[in-house]
Amino acid sequence: MAQITAPLRQLLEKNVEWVWDQEQRQAFTTLKAAIVDPPVLKFFDQKQSVCLSVDASSKGMGAVLLQNDRPVAYASKALTSCQQNYSQIEKEMLAIVYGCEHFHQYLYGQREVIVESDHKPLEAILKKSIHQAPLRLQRMILRLKPYAIKVKYTPGSQLLIADALSRSQMSAQINDPSDEFEVNVLEWGQMSETMFEKLVEETKKDAELQQLHRVVMDGWPPTKPETPLEIRPYWSYRDEISGYDGLMFKGDRVIVPHVLRPEMLDRIHAAHLGIEKCKARARGSVFWPGMNSAIDEMVSECRTCLQFQRRNQREPLMPQEIPERPWSTVAADIFYYKGRDYLLVVDYFSKYPEVTRINHKNSEAVILAMKEMFARHGIPEKIIADNMPFNSLRCRDFAREWEIEVVTSSLHYPRSNGLVERNVQTIKRLLKKSNDSKQDAFLALLEFRNSPISGMEQSPAELLMSRKLRAKLPIPKHLLKPKSQPINDVRQRLRVRQLRQKAAYDQGTKQLSSLQPNESVRIRQGGVWNPAVVVEQHKSPRSYIVATSNGTQLRRNRQHLMPTNEPPMNITPPMEPVGEEERCSGIAPSTVRSSVRSPVIFPSTEIEEEHVRTPLGRSTRIRRAPSRLIENI
Ligand SMILES: [Zn+2]
Repeated sequence: MAQITAPLRQLLEKNVEWVWDQEQRQAFTTLKAAIVDPPVLKFFDQKQSVCLSVDASSKGMGAVLLQNDRPVAYASKALTSCQQNYSQIEKEMLAIVYGCEHFHQYLYGQREVIVESDHKPLEAILKKSIHQAPLRLQRMILRLKPYAIKVKYTPGSQLLIADALSRSQMSAQINDPSDEFEVNVLEWGQMSETMFEKLVEETKKDAELQQLHRVVMDGWPPTKPETPLEIRPYWSYRDEISGYDGLMFKGDRVIVPHVLRPEMLDRIHAAHLGIEKCKARARGSVFWPGMNSAIDEMVSECRTCLQFQRRNQREPLMPQEIPERPWSTVAADIFYYKGRDYLLVVDYFSKYPEVTRINHKNSEAVILAMKEMFARHGIPEKIIADNMPFNSLRCRDFAREWEIEVVTSSLHYPRSNGLVERNVQTIKRLLKKSNDSKQDAFLALLEFRNSPISGMEQSPAELLMSRKLRAKLPIPKHLLKPKSQPINDVRQRLRVRQLRQKAAYDQGTKQLSSLQPNESVRIRQGGVWNPAVVVEQHKSPRSYIVATSNGTQLRRNRQHLMPTNEPPMNITPPMEPVGEEERCSGIAPSTVRSSVRSPVIFPSTEIEEEHVRTPLGRSTRIRRAPSRLIENI
């Protein structure tokens, strides 16, 4: 253009004679043509799509409105001293705001405005939720809401006009206060001034955050490998990072300097809320790379939280295999009713209950009562029982002699013996009702044995003895005669009934993970979780031997164990075995009595299953209180 106008400009100089000749006429014609031809401004066409090409340099910004790649209008503006301190992404966004507002009359109401920018992160941040954007960008994004803009990344080499405009020398322009997107961190953060100062001071000392600040101000390198190593963790959300008032932010969350992170974790976890609650709380205000896993780690290792965790979720029912014939597998338990102990034995096949009063809860009395029952119905192959006294030495001797296998359930978890547990309730209710109505408890028991099992046609008596029993209700004689039962059909029906029960029980249950030897766990004792370590898996399903902090080994169901990430525990042998044992035996203190108050019942040779191995031998003074078994049920 300068070349074309040279002959004309010459005329304007001093001491030059004014001549309008061929040369000047030619220049004037060429100039006229140049003005109406590309690449010079074209008229705005309302029907054509519009494109806004913008760019920002360190001191200025430029915008050009294009239609069909031909410029319609240009604009440029110098940055105020305040704006010159914006980060690169903010300057680029400011250029868009400037371009849109400057060309408002062209752009407002357009269905779509393509915005070309050479700052790639802008494209990404505009697709995210506004809260993820840096604070200042959030305000700019709001200012852009009237325009249907769509930011398209275009390499700088293709943004020549806007680039040139942003770099061209411009005088300082009048400062329009609405162009300043001020961010007041203190007002935003609702943090104490002390905390704010502390954060600013530590951010200043934090080499990583300073490096991050520099990169944010100058603009990120185009690729991750070109980014300084220590700030690479921030690369994937670089468009969300900004700095104000000496603090670094990811969206509207403060990036916490390294030294303050432990303190911040403590604050996050001040109320000892769970992992998810803590994360949600932290997400609202603070950030650093790896914060979530730091929260995971802290909460999962918090002694207070571990101790007061809720109980484990119930596990799905593990039904016992239906025995092949009556009285081959029985469940046994002792229950307590109106000052008396009773032994209850229930057949797994027929559900037939045998119940008898025993004078003592010791093995002798139990063995005697069982012999009486087995003499009546035959010797079962298997007895499933709670620990005591069925696992006593004497009982085991009896079982060996009579060729019976004894399977014990782990303490505090009678659910593995669900059949007898349910029957204890039923029989007790039956005893209570007959007592209340002054009726004969034995007649009630007879009626119970004679009534069909729920979901079945047969009664326990029919399944065990193949006949109905004569009771006080009139009954046709032929029904009292033995009638063989279709055993396979019965087993099938029992199985269906069992599956139905399992389905009902399993609602809201969860299979718990299995545990490995040496795994750190917590053990449920007296309503809290205490530290322990897994020794080995017990042969019974879901059952483990664990050692507590004083070295006592206990057998526990998985339900009462919780794996933790705690470092392996130091096991110290007890100083005074008896006292320590009482405390860690898992039995609530009120149910543990010393020999002073109640007589020794189990001889010292009887070792509770509960204490698998005790480091310094076993005291005879501990026994279970008479009410233990009932409490367990
Ligand atoms: Zn905690």
